[in-house]
Amino acid sequence: MTLAIDRTQLESRETRDIPTVAGASLRVPLVTGGDIGYANLDHAASAPCLDAVRAKVDEFLPWYASVHRGAGFASQVSTKLYERTRDILRRFVDARRTDTVVFTRNTTDAFNLLARSLSRHTTVIVFDTEHHAALLPWQGPNVRRIPTPRTRLAAVSAVDEALADAPQGPRLVVVTGASNVTGELLPVAEIAAVARKHGARVALDAAQLAPHRRISIKELDVDYVALSGHKLYAPFGAGALIGRADWLRAARPYLAGGGATKLVTEDAVVWNTGPERHEAGSPNTVGVYALGVACETLSASWDAVVAHEQALLARLRKGLAGIPGCAELRLFDAPVDRVGTVSFVVDGFDPGWLAAVLSAEYGIGVRDGAFCAHIAAKRLIGVTGGEGQQAVRVSLGLGSTEEHVDRVLLALRQIVARGA
Ligand code: PLP
Repeated sequence: MTLAIDRTQLESRETRDIPTVAGASLRVPLVTGGDIGYANLDHAASAPCLDAVRAKVDEFLPWYASVHRGAGFASQVSTKLYERTRDILRRFVDARRTDTVVFTRNTTDAFNLLARSLSRHTTVIVFDTEHHAALLPWQGPNVRRIPTPRTRLAAVSAVDEALADAPQGPRLVVVTGASNVTGELLPVAEIAAVARKHGARVALDAAQLAPHRRISIKELDVDYVALSGHKLYAPFGAGALIGRADWLRAARPYLAGGGATKLVTEDAVVWNTGPERHEAGSPNTVGVYALGVACETLSASWDAVVAHEQALLARLRKGLAGIPGCAELRLFDAPVDRVGTVSFVVDGFDPGWLAAVLSAEYGIGVRDGAFCAHIAAKRLIGVTGGEGQQAVRVSLGLGSTEEHVDRVLLALRQIVARGA
């Protein structure tokens, strides 16, 4: 069966309300159109803007202006909203009172900023299966990449051993909250406890965790959190690095230019010591505002978010398990808590081709490839018995429905039945 889609109709939008425990509802957008509607199953790449975010941004658009630079009313409004968003983000990740919030373009930018802020003696310990944004900013002889073990306990021990072997001096462990390949949660609190024992700091890659679970810097006892707005149901262009101020205050400004300085004379520059130190240039005021609205909206809805995604995830994984030749990629041997992201290979089928057929014939958007985590993809596909370095990834979010899940399962069954 071939399902026809008129792509010109993908413009139309519907919304759907997900009831929250508090009796309020979380309005999420569904991009619809054509005979069957578009099924976006690629939330891990970028999540569509929440209706609440769209509405607030619409209100703000006539008012945005340069922040920190103008006496006019629009500048004052923009500055206030921009600065207020730092507090929203601090609350969103339950940060310590003394933590700073630096606005960045995204998680990649946040980790590059952190990497630039490390002293050159800092030892960095990172699992080699991390997303490239968390793997590559750290370069040089002081970087220890550890192969990710197959159990959570062994992962904690591996960090413990790496820290015990590391030279004295500053040490930073970088770990993701949720894998962008498998959706599995890493034992962040346990790793942070081990790091603390050795006097090391921990940076959490929250790009995939933050859209799905409440994060508490205090409870996890991590030092830095990096996240991206476009994965949190806000538009592209704004993210943040949140965490301990001292290393960032002491670091050379990430960007040099206006806004980062207190005073410039003919022969000297006095740099700001707050977050503006690393935010030179006119910032993305609208993006930052949208990020704040998205965080506030999600914060009010965690129970509903988790319940919605976990029900769909169970349905998806059960269905995939029944598809002949389909093997799911997993970091860990034993089942662990996970967000709604699943990558898989299907014996005898090229992942790129599968994704193209899902899109062209069934109106389903998924991701294929190695997910900017090449080492993870290669290794985990090997564990399934597969040979390639690429897989298909289905990732669920607030816009996902049972129909979307059922459609991708039906599509895969039909494709496998008719053969490559
Ligand atoms: N970390 C993880 C786990 C990711 O999944 C991603 C993006 O997919 C990133 C970091 C990088 O995010 P961004 O592209 O927004 O910088």
